[in-house]
Amino acid sequence: CGIVGYIGPNSPVPIILEGLRRLEYRGYDSAGIAVAGGPDGLSLRRAPGKLRNLEAVIAANPLQGTFGIGHTRWATHGRPTEENAHPHRDGTGTLVVVHNGIVENYLALKQELIAKGHTFFSQTDTEIIAHIIQDELELAGSPEPDSKRTADINTSEAVIHSQPPTIPLEEAVRRAVKRLTGAFALGVLSAHEPNKLVAARMGPPAVLGIGDGEYFLASDVPGILHHTRNIHFLADGEVAILTPQGITLTDFAGASIPLKIQRIAWDP
Ligand code: GLU
Repeated sequence: CGIVGYIGPNSPVPIILEGLRRLEYRGYDSAGIAVAGGPDGLSLRRAPGKLRNLEAVIAANPLQGTFGIGHTRWATHGRPTEENAHPHRDGTGTLVVVHNGIVENYLALKQELIAKGHTFFSQTDTEIIAHIIQDELELAGSPEPDSKRTADINTSEAVIHSQPPTIPLEEAVRRAVKRLTGAFALGVLSAHEPNKLVAARMGPPAVLGIGDGEYFLASDVPGILHHTRNIHFLADGEVAILTPQGITLTDFAGASIPLKIQRIAWDP
């Protein structure tokens, strides 16, 4: 339902939580956040219910990172539990996905992945996306992870044993989205690629915010408008790569697309 991602010099956790709060009017049943680039690697916190529940989890067990993504969920597949809250991890615990929309072919994909040895931790359609991206990284020839899909979804600090992938995250995302039918606005990050967020859209809205040395992803303008008024509305079929150096855009085939930055004059 609500997506906020941040990459830049400031601490991502308060920026993401504040952005999610500004998107609360859309309604949600659970919330979660993942950050990476800190001393603990990829860290994840999730909680059913209101954002204050997530904030309590974070207060009890703080997380540090240099970039991250958060989500407020409106459940379509799977009850509103902690396990079903986003972000969702792939089986190796090295990448996470937040998602708005519905993956219509998720059951067929889930069966295909289970046959390949993947283990799933949630009842959501969204978790499939993380596993499909991981599958694309492995198909591209990434060395087998030592940990071999044993990441415990309940461990807050993932221990990263696997080798770096041979294709960049955005290429794995581009290959993965071609296997999905349905609707999606996605935010993805990987512990292997410090300081990179990847977003993709087919259906539900997503926007990019261009700040002064900082970059934002959101499901809607009010989530980030207090940080920047320079907005690119992600179009269907676009993939965005956010780094501390800026944002680049491609289509699902990898051809580059220019950013169309609009200056937002209105207030939410
Ligand atoms: N279909 C996904 C789920 O149920 C995404 C829901 C949403 O758009 O918040 O987890």
